[in-house]
Amino acid sequence: MNRLKYYALSVLFLSASVLVAQEQEKKEREGGHINNNRFKQLYEEFSTPNMFRTASGAPGPAYYQQQADYKMDIELDDKNQKLYGEEVITYTNNSPDVLEFLWVQLDQNVRSKDTKSALRNGQSIPAADQVGGFTSRYLKEPFDGGFNIQYVKDSNGRDLPYTINQTMMRIDIPQPLKSGEKVSFSIKWWYNINNHVQGRGRSGYEFFPEDGNRAYVIAQFFPRMAVYSDVEGWQNHQFWGNGEFALPFGDYEVNITVPADHILDGTGVLTNRKEVFSKEMMKRYEKAKRSYDKPVLIVTQEEAEKAEKSFSNKKKTWKLKATNVRDFGFATSRKFIWDMQAVKIGEKDVMAVSLYPKEGNPLWEEYSTKAVAHTLKSYSDHTFDYPYHKAISVHARNQGMEYPMICWNYGRPNKDGTYSQRVKYGMISVIIHEVGHNFFPMIVNSDERQWGWMDEGLDTFMQYIAEQEFGEAFPEAVADQENKKYPSRRGEPSKITRYMSGDQSFISPIMSNPENVYQLGANAYGKPATALNILRETVMGRELFDHAFKTYAQRWKFKHPTPEDFFRTMEDASAVDLDWFWRGWFYSTEYVDIGVKEVKKFHVSSKPNQQVKQVMKQRGITEADLPPLVYLVEEGSEDYNESLKGKSPVETSTTLKDYLFDNFSAEERANLKTPKYFYEVTFEKPGGIPMPLIVEYNYKDGSTERVTYPPEIWRKNDAEVKRVIASEKELAGIVIDPQQETADIDTSNNAWPKKEGKSDFDKFKEKVKGK
Ligand SMILES: [Zn+2]
Repeated sequence: MNRLKYYALSVLFLSASVLVAQEQEKKEREGGHINNNRFKQLYEEFSTPNMFRTASGAPGPAYYQQQADYKMDIELDDKNQKLYGEEVITYTNNSPDVLEFLWVQLDQNVRSKDTKSALRNGQSIPAADQVGGFTSRYLKEPFDGGFNIQYVKDSNGRDLPYTINQTMMRIDIPQPLKSGEKVSFSIKWWYNINNHVQGRGRSGYEFFPEDGNRAYVIAQFFPRMAVYSDVEGWQNHQFWGNGEFALPFGDYEVNITVPADHILDGTGVLTNRKEVFSKEMMKRYEKAKRSYDKPVLIVTQEEAEKAEKSFSNKKKTWKLKATNVRDFGFATSRKFIWDMQAVKIGEKDVMAVSLYPKEGNPLWEEYSTKAVAHTLKSYSDHTFDYPYHKAISVHARNQGMEYPMICWNYGRPNKDGTYSQRVKYGMISVIIHEVGHNFFPMIVNSDERQWGWMDEGLDTFMQYIAEQEFGEAFPEAVADQENKKYPSRRGEPSKITRYMSGDQSFISPIMSNPENVYQLGANAYGKPATALNILRETVMGRELFDHAFKTYAQRWKFKHPTPEDFFRTMEDASAVDLDWFWRGWFYSTEYVDIGVKEVKKFHVSSKPNQQVKQVMKQRGITEADLPPLVYLVEEGSEDYNESLKGKSPVETSTTLKDYLFDNFSAEERANLKTPKYFYEVTFEKPGGIPMPLIVEYNYKDGSTERVTYPPEIWRKNDAEVKRVIASEKELAGIVIDPQQETADIDTSNNAWPKKEGKSDFDKFKEKVKGK
């Protein structure tokens, strides 16, 4: 037989299944198609790399960012709940572009009387409405909480023309601002402070009717520069309420005047501590700086309760100075209890701080500062050392909101001091989350207005890790849990399947603007956090993931990254092709569903089987024309007989035996494997997202083998793929994704033989019948 014929026949026989596949393909070939392969690179979705942002995901040689420095004098009128401010903004144009005008953000205008924000959503009458929402929608006159701009002046005191378009103000500077130049201008303003408990604002006050006091958490309170960048030009997309903030870095000097009996803390270093602290407070503060294991009270509950009654008419000015921050927030009240402790981050001491009214106790004195300190350590380990000197957690009812060095958090016990597990873990979780926002987006400064997931998703992912580490660091804190594990609300794959298998008309891809998504919590927090957790645990492994994630955080700390900078860096630092992962999880609303469809059992024989006989007949050849072949016959087929069962191929195939004898030494033959069972397993993938195929093979002798096939196994057939198992042991069962780590939405197809799962309805019927 000539070599060519020999080759042609081998190929034919060894791949009979290919013939069938080709027949099917022929039918589907009509019309053709473009490259829709799920493993295609994301060239069409990604922008072209350039001098500002490189193809590796790092800042490029021409990367720039603008700088906005603020000097502000702020005064709180506690009696009338008004906030007054005068600010000087110095704006540095580091871009190569000439700027003809400047855009300033007036976020408080979302609360102005004529805001369009309230009008842009459709409405309907629900069967039941929340009392707060009902009251503010239908009973109350619209609150007038927008900015009152008194003037905008240049550095010589001359009025500058400006135009306000809802939450954006354009300032027309007399001379275009050239590359490398600075411009200073000042704005005077005031506004009515809202009740954030009634109106669900990120900033405002809570009123305590029992003592007549207010606790203020104040943010977005001053006209702030918009971001100008190589990606968006001016980011002047209106603030509608969901899409949060995009802000340049800068230095702040802020003097805040409040009633003399208030306790205040905010972004930055307190530069006049001796003026605003009593001698006793100074002593306690010095002690707190050396207390690494537990917080020290700077203001006790007893002192706070006394202050609640004082209502001083005097004023006090707190002076704060912050370098390289993207925003500024502060909290002030005479109700505040204040505690703090030191935490070692790298070579440096950072202060973990809490401010809370007595209504937060006993929960807050127990857990707040502990959670702050833990968060700083956990996040620093996974990203970079926390660079600021303090992090403050302020208790504000219903709030969970973040600013540089300071954040507002919910978690209030009942009036008698009791609290549920839900309140306790909710409080610790929100503190971890909001303190964690210092890293994303306060330092890794992404554009929240455009991409909610870049800060919320990354932060919720890190929150999950920090929560699990909290449970390990403080076992006594999670002793009330059955499994002694921290009960994370988001992050576990099984927690996202309900959302991902939901009605497609109410799901948007993660890569959507936060104003346009249906379920913001699942879209920007839960799904990206879970995707990253799966990427870390199942797709990349901790070592590769952690290095790449850290690389992203370090490349972009104190800079403005885009989604592509993240996606590219994760590949760049790991050598794992992830385009398929980003496409499936971030650019689509598809879900994961992988199963086992069919298992066929084969044995080796010396005699040609029916398929081979058919080909011999078609081609007019005899057995003598065939090359040496091993024939695989399916158990139960007409070629099969019981004598083949449980034998090794050498026993049942003389051709194989001869081949081995001719080509292997006795020693080599002794070392060959002797599989007795051959299985062809068909796996199916009804879900769109390709994922690693994790298979547990269980054998009749009780042993188990786990094989993870890389996601690329789906690259040539997105719906179905087969694998052959050759084993000395008989297979008893197969389980797909046995640890439920891929967020598979339908596990009814995850086992062979199929688990006899009874539906609830069947169970109900049996119960009725009395079975
Ligand atoms: Zn958040």
